[in-house]
Amino acid sequence: MPTESRPSPESEPPLGDLSRAETGVEVSGAIAAPPLPWQTLFEAALDAMLIVNSEGVLIEVNRAACALLELPRQALVGRRIADFLLPDTDLEDLWQGFVAAGQVRGDQQLRLASGVVKTVEFAVTAHVYPNHHLAIWRDITDRKCIESERNALSHQLEQWVISSSEKLQRTEAALRLQQQRIDSILNSLECVVWSVHPTTLETIYVNAAVETLYGYSAESFLSNPGLWFSCIHPEDEPLLMADIRAVMNDVRIDREYRIFRADGTERWVRGQARLVRNAVGQPTRIDGTTTDISEQQAALRERKQAELALKENQATQQLILNAIPDLMMRVNRDGYILNLISGGEITLFSPIQPHSHQSIYQGFPRDLADRRMHYVRLALDTGMPQRYEHSLNLNSELRYEESRVVPINDAEVLVIVRDITDRKHAEAIQAELNQKLQRVNAELNRLATVDGLTEIANRRSFDQALDLEWQRARRQQKSLSLVLCDIDYFKPYNDNYGHLAGDDCLRQVAQVLNSVVQRPGDLAARYGGEEFVLLLPDTTLEGAIGVIEKIQAAIAQRHLPHAYSEVARVITLSFGVVCHRPSVKEHSPRELVHRTDLALYQAKAQGRNCYVVGDRMG
Ligand code: GH3
Ligand code: MG
Ligand code: MG
Repeated sequence: MPTESRPSPESEPPLGDLSRAETGVEVSGAIAAPPLPWQTLFEAALDAMLIVNSEGVLIEVNRAACALLELPRQALVGRRIADFLLPDTDLEDLWQGFVAAGQVRGDQQLRLASGVVKTVEFAVTAHVYPNHHLAIWRDITDRKCIESERNALSHQLEQWVISSSEKLQRTEAALRLQQQRIDSILNSLECVVWSVHPTTLETIYVNAAVETLYGYSAESFLSNPGLWFSCIHPEDEPLLMADIRAVMNDVRIDREYRIFRADGTERWVRGQARLVRNAVGQPTRIDGTTTDISEQQAALRERKQAELALKENQATQQLILNAIPDLMMRVNRDGYILNLISGGEITLFSPIQPHSHQSIYQGFPRDLADRRMHYVRLALDTGMPQRYEHSLNLNSELRYEESRVVPINDAEVLVIVRDITDRKHAEAIQAELNQKLQRVNAELNRLATVDGLTEIANRRSFDQALDLEWQRARRQQKSLSLVLCDIDYFKPYNDNYGHLAGDDCLRQVAQVLNSVVQRPGDLAARYGGEEFVLLLPDTTLEGAIGVIEKIQAAIAQRHLPHAYSEVARVITLSFGVVCHRPSVKEHSPRELVHRTDLALYQAKAQGRNCYVVGDRMG
């Protein structure tokens, strides 16, 4: 390390004279020497040249050095070189290395008095003269500056490239992720998503759903452009071709087609497509989706069928309603006609306008409308259907209406009004006919039970009555008396007085018999010819004999002349009588009749005009 700022006299450089000659500065102890031809070179050199002694003190500098260090020569000579170095420069190391090597090259930064820092490239050669060392400095501040800027730029560029590449990698990764997401989404869709080339129609992309719908894998479509067309239903192929032409003209397609799956089954699909153009308007793709709508189609067909059936049903209903002659209307609690369902033309008073919310009082007699409202409210309050009829006088003709009032809900009823005039007339005729029929029936009945000539009960009636009374007497253990009587010598009467007189006589005898038997249950009947029978329930033999005697008296009182009788001058009767209490074992009254007949026979045998009491039955 240089320790002194002044050089020793023995080591003064040969430049001492030159310095003095040119600068006028006298270097202490300098030895005058002839000018050297290199001094000129020294002065003219573009690089800064400095002569330094071993202590690092400047002995001589050229012009370029003055310019570099921005000081005049006289201010420089004698200065320590360390004055121009940056404070942190380790000059000692540098100097020792230099002295040892004899020459050293490198870059060095200088700090000028003005504070400016310059970078120099230096080459120092030791001992160009004893104790004289030559340093050549070239100002490379600009170059360093450029280098530094270039380095900075290159560093920036490097950073930018690194960051760009990282960004690119990140972007690529993000894109891959996004693509994976899109693929995952597309493949999770139920509808087929596809993209085809606009001219070759080759498949560019198709998602996994295609396999479910078509039964062919996505790869099959990617490798076989014709597969789409081989799947289309032949009848829909022209439609598809027309749609492809249309899509090329930027028409968006939304169409339903039929396709055949790989397994041969037919499906309905909905295809939607659009043309995609690039930035300059050239077609690049046709993108679209295909959705299976077979089930929707089936549901649609079912709905259409149901709608058709409903329409037909409604039409039928309307026809039925039109055919119903009844007036049908919905009426609310306030008596307004909500709608007229059918039969407006039959309203007897004035037409009802459909859907006009007309009151039932409008155009109707108040009393009839009041009555109708009464039943409307009754139906609404009770929830039960009501029915009533009324008559009305229209154009001097009596007409009838039947109204039925059926509650629909809490507030409305259905009123059905029917013109029943014809029915009423028919009913009246029917009632009259019924009466006649009843009369005829009664007459027939009477004729069936009454003897036509004498108009008392006939044999049939007697038989029925006998059975009944027999059973009753048997049940109640009561006596039952039976009397048979026969006109005496009636044949000669007929023969002599004539048949008509005979009939008249029979009638008179019948009247007598009928007038005598008066108790309820007693019966006088014509038994046949001029023979009569008396059935006397709950009557003892004495009672029966009493009846016979009354008859005899009544006949006698009538005094019916009979000139041809052999027992009297008047009509007489013979009687047979039996009184019997039927036992529980006796099931038939035949024996009773038989015994009574026998008694009558005996009365005839005994001379007639008498009665014989028959044998008591066993
Ligand atoms: P008897 O005293 O024994 O009873 O003698 P009879 O003549 O009354 O008896 P018979 O049986 O011989 O005659 C019955 C007659 O009654 C025969 C018939 O001319 C007459 N006769 C029967 N039914 C009718 C009838 O409906 N009208 C008339 N006019 N005569 C009748
Ligand atoms: Mg007789
Ligand atoms: Mg007789």
